[in-house]
Amino acid sequence: MNKMGSEPLDQGGIDVTFDVSVERHLKNEVGATQATATPTDWMRATALTAREGLAARWLQTQHDDNAVGARRAYYLSAEFLIGRAMSNALAALNLDKDFASEMKKLKLEPADVLETEPDAALGNGGLGRLAACFLDSLATLGVPSFGYGIRYEFGMFTQRIQDGKQVEMPDNWLANGNPWEFPRRDIHYIVPFGGWVEYVNGRPVWTPSERVMARAYDMVIPGHGTERVSTLRLWKATALEELDLSAHTRGDYARAAETRSKAENISWVLYPDDSTPQGRELRLRQEFFFVTASLQDIVARHIRAYSTLENLHEKAAIQLNDTHPALAVPELMRLLMDEHGLSWEDAWYQTSRIISYTNHTLMPEAIETWPVGIMQYLLPRHLDIIYEINRRFLTMVAARFPGDTALLNRVSLIAEDGEKRVRMGNLSIVASTKVNGVAKLHSDLMVQTIFADFAKIFPDRFTNVTNGVTPRRWLGQCNPGLTKLIGKKLRGQWQIDLDQLAKLKKYANDEAFCAEVAKVKLANKERLAAYIKRETGIVVDPNALFDIQVKRIHEYKRQLLNVLHVIQRYREMIANPNADWQPRVHIFAGKAASAYKMAKLIIRLIHDVARTVNNDPRLKDRLKVVFLPDYRVSVAEKIFPAADISEQISTAGTEASGTGNMKFALNGALTVGTWDGANIEIAENVGLDNIFVFGLRTEEVEKLSQEGYNPRAWYEGNADLKAVLDMIASGYFTPEEPTRYQAIVDTLLGRDQYFLLADFAAYVETHRHVDAAYRDKATWLTKVVHNISGMGMFSSDRTIGEYCKNIWGIKTR
Ligand SMILES: *Cc1c(COP(=O)(O)O)cnc(C)c1O
Repeated sequence: MNKMGSEPLDQGGIDVTFDVSVERHLKNEVGATQATATPTDWMRATALTAREGLAARWLQTQHDDNAVGARRAYYLSAEFLIGRAMSNALAALNLDKDFASEMKKLKLEPADVLETEPDAALGNGGLGRLAACFLDSLATLGVPSFGYGIRYEFGMFTQRIQDGKQVEMPDNWLANGNPWEFPRRDIHYIVPFGGWVEYVNGRPVWTPSERVMARAYDMVIPGHGTERVSTLRLWKATALEELDLSAHTRGDYARAAETRSKAENISWVLYPDDSTPQGRELRLRQEFFFVTASLQDIVARHIRAYSTLENLHEKAAIQLNDTHPALAVPELMRLLMDEHGLSWEDAWYQTSRIISYTNHTLMPEAIETWPVGIMQYLLPRHLDIIYEINRRFLTMVAARFPGDTALLNRVSLIAEDGEKRVRMGNLSIVASTKVNGVAKLHSDLMVQTIFADFAKIFPDRFTNVTNGVTPRRWLGQCNPGLTKLIGKKLRGQWQIDLDQLAKLKKYANDEAFCAEVAKVKLANKERLAAYIKRETGIVVDPNALFDIQVKRIHEYKRQLLNVLHVIQRYREMIANPNADWQPRVHIFAGKAASAYKMAKLIIRLIHDVARTVNNDPRLKDRLKVVFLPDYRVSVAEKIFPAADISEQISTAGTEASGTGNMKFALNGALTVGTWDGANIEIAENVGLDNIFVFGLRTEEVEKLSQEGYNPRAWYEGNADLKAVLDMIASGYFTPEEPTRYQAIVDTLLGRDQYFLLADFAAYVETHRHVDAAYRDKATWLTKVVHNISGMGMFSSDRTIGEYCKNIWGIKTR
């Protein structure tokens, strides 16, 4: 047993004082002296100190979990959007104060040192960030658990803006090593691909044509208010032998290198997509690669502990974060049957009690399907198993709903219209214990729309678990001012018992408290204004209303509707420049998938509008438009605490939950939102008086769509809307290229799939109410406090508690 694991874990598990440890790491591992050390050197030395504390806790947690033998939760996700680890680790280890005083001693600004850590951006957006929040809560609640994913060599691309256009740069986050990871040289599994299946004495034998190695790298995720940690095990792909030696000795360096790079390609780069599935073979390889490595690891761990697989389903619960890990279904069946000799019936009994699936989208085109041809070529045994699952399933359905062939076609795991494809959503549902949506509305719509047939077949299988965010990162670490203020009013460790926020309600009309809240908000806006100046050169007034929309750029999220409002406001202001306009700063940030033309065009439009508006002297700086480049977790941490208004304006029925909406409200921003996703539950919790709801409801969108939506009629019927679109179409913002945004105007007047024109008037009107409300400072602050105090239920601790109770059957403390 490691010495640190058996000792009392004082000082985060390090056996000397913090400063001595940091200085020792600086000298021994970083190779710098106090005189020569850069902020990056100090960051690395500090990280190595924290790492020691985490290692001790990791050993203890594994030891405890093995001794207790409780059921473990395994969270399989192709994405984990973690961000920086340092502040979180120092806070969890109670070393944050030591760090602050050490930096003071060295005359360094703590923020300057923390800023040198690269973000771990192994995810695109909300889905990956959710997985990261869940790891934090799993550790904090002490749930025996592992996260499993891919150690992408290159994460989410870095976004640069050149001449108003997005340019993608590779994210070489491992360039200077990763102090938080523990390479586990002893943990590796073979990943087979291709080849053929033969039946020998009636038993299937898969002879793959290709094999790569999956090697484990652990990231330790600390819990808060506990010494427990959780493990994120990420797999890196390598060649089976590091070099193809026979080729190498023959002098065939190129071939040796080729074998190697073909294998390593698998974990090379994250697919930079969001809400659109990637139909490429390499993506399927990635998915199978991390699924099989994770399952082999789970099975090996279980056999080590119990020497049998009979009780695997009592000891393992596997959660599929969307369908990306859906190959876990046939792969677990294969491992249990082909490698461990279970019968089909026994393997299915286990699989269907182990696996559960979280759905993240209602848009049918966004749910993965794979051509049967690619699957046959890459995973022939799995395709056989999927066919057999399908045969048995359809037999059952046909017996229960005789004569309904249309139903059979709809629920089949294989789509037969056009190119035959495997439907990964259907596969996941058929094999799962539970299928959950991520907010109430989304879960309701899921069983009423895309999965209505399955809800009829499996009425007890569907459930809801509303998303949440970790209050440690999204309040405690990102907003120390507000955290300190709340800490004066609430007792004990309220960050691990977020329902306590409700007790702040009684201060909603307390002038002194509200004044403190206002002071904190202003300081956060000053901090963001300085960041905006540094990143974009744009000067903004911290006393203006900060209206913020940050998230992936996507048509359904409707950044374009926001732009239309900005242009309308601009028109009104130049028509009447002497009126008493509420000064505003409209802030945008977000990445567009590299192949998503319309999203990229929207980014460019924001820049062209910003250039025009920001330089128009008639406005006297009362309207500013900012696009902050390279939105990522560490930028988000600066943005949420500084918002007055949170823009959550997706077309009703399209945003499954959202979590950005939660982070904003938790930090005291008021939401301008549609009746969509978790906005609805936020409204219920903060009170309808404290949120600005506008626009068509889901049923109204549906009705309008059925009646035949004609966006042009809305354009003709609203003079302001017409003027705004005409302004874009005339090249007002782009005199050098008047037709630059023709595609945008054509889309809006043609189909307007997301009903921007139908919601425009209500949206503009709502912002008039916002301006009026913002002027009444006392009432506004009351609303702010109601927002903060109503957000207790949106802690991811509550979310994980529900997964444990309603899906995994795991007790929490
Ligand atoms: C929270 C978060 C998201 C998700 O935002 P939504 O508004 O829910 O889409 C995406 N990216 C980052 C960096 C986040 O922190």
